[in-house]
Amino acid sequence: MQENFSLKPYNTFGVDAKAKYFTEVQTIEELKNAISYSKEHSLSVLFLGGGSNILLTKDFDGLVIKLSLKGIEEKDLNENEVLVTAKAGENWHEFVMYSLQKNYGGLENLSLIPGNVGTSPMQNIGAYGTEIKDIFVSCMVLDLENLEIGTFSLEECHFGYRDSIFKQKGKGRYVILEVSFKLTKKDHLIKTEYGAIKAELENSGITHPTIQDVSKAVISIRQSKLPDPKETGNAGSFFKNPTIPLVQFEELKKKFENIPGYPNGDWVKVPAGWLIEQCGWKGKQLGNVASHRLQALVIVNATGNATGKEIFDFSTEIIHSVKEKFGIELEREVNIL
Ligand SMILES: Cc1cc2nc3c(=O)[nH]c(=O)nc-3n(C[C@H](O)[C@H](O)[C@H](O)COP(=O)(O)OP(=O)(O)OC[C@H]3O[C@@H](n4cnc5c(N)ncnc54)[C@H](O)[C@@H]3O)c2cc1C
Repeated sequence: MQENFSLKPYNTFGVDAKAKYFTEVQTIEELKNAISYSKEHSLSVLFLGGGSNILLTKDFDGLVIKLSLKGIEEKDLNENEVLVTAKAGENWHEFVMYSLQKNYGGLENLSLIPGNVGTSPMQNIGAYGTEIKDIFVSCMVLDLENLEIGTFSLEECHFGYRDSIFKQKGKGRYVILEVSFKLTKKDHLIKTEYGAIKAELENSGITHPTIQDVSKAVISIRQSKLPDPKETGNAGSFFKNPTIPLVQFEELKKKFENIPGYPNGDWVKVPAGWLIEQCGWKGKQLGNVASHRLQALVIVNATGNATGKEIFDFSTEIIHSVKEKFGIELEREVNIL
């Protein structure tokens, strides 16, 4: 247990907030002990994975528990499928690389997403046409109400766009301990339709891509578009893409004829990055904080000295200008503390 502990290396924004107490756990036993300690001392608790989807707007006056449970297990399901289970503290991208090395398919489009395996169900992480719900089987959790271990199936997780039961009804109640995925051993489903994957593969002269080729293409696209948190503090997309009623979209189209939208029944998903860019925020810096020059949706700690409060205030200004221009209320994707 460490006291007055700087969380700067533990959040990808690189915000220098402090935890009153900090501990790192490697086993369920250690986790239970830390939770019992927090209960005995009436401390609020914050669980931390890779810190890549969190904004610390102030010091945390409680116990931060960094989840570092490690291990990967496999079980053959049939000739073509394998169940792979990874503990919460496994790094997500390393887990994707592990599966690709074994030639297991299903995770390749999710290459290079920062963070840990245990956090992946929280917001049903997704990229390039895949979400974890597409390969998710179940996750094992610790229920903080009674310290009992349970399991959530795919249906029970209520996955949605950047959403799950763990961000809704179950918020703050469960610690995810491990996650199981069903991956293919052969006859992989290759998904190249989304974003620039196809173009990237064509540029490399690849006409019949393998899952490894898709992963390489995704990595290359991400590296060219997104700031590396090791160099510039950020948490990826700061806002969710809003979904608005079709009638509202049609009204907006009369005024902003280039507005992009992805219809789904009576609803249309609008890229938040486009809305933000239209309000003049792309590349704009105020003090220590900026909207990224290549992707307006990403807010960066431009000088490395930004406080969480400054980043939060910057995001509020963006919300206000998008609301004023388009009448659309952006929702933050990043967890605010
Ligand atoms: C450059 C960059 C690009 C990104 N691109 C994408 C992308 O393409 N798609 C996408 O979906 N996301 C993306 N993200 C966001 C982020 O990578 C994911 O949300 C990731 O799953 C966060 O994992 P983490 O371990 O870092 O979470 P943390 O930031 O450590 O935690 C996030 C929240 O989950 C809670 N939590 C953490 N672990 C557990 C657990 N085991 N059980 C219960 N609660 C827990 C924390 O208390 C916190 O509230 C990106 C982030 C960055 C920095």
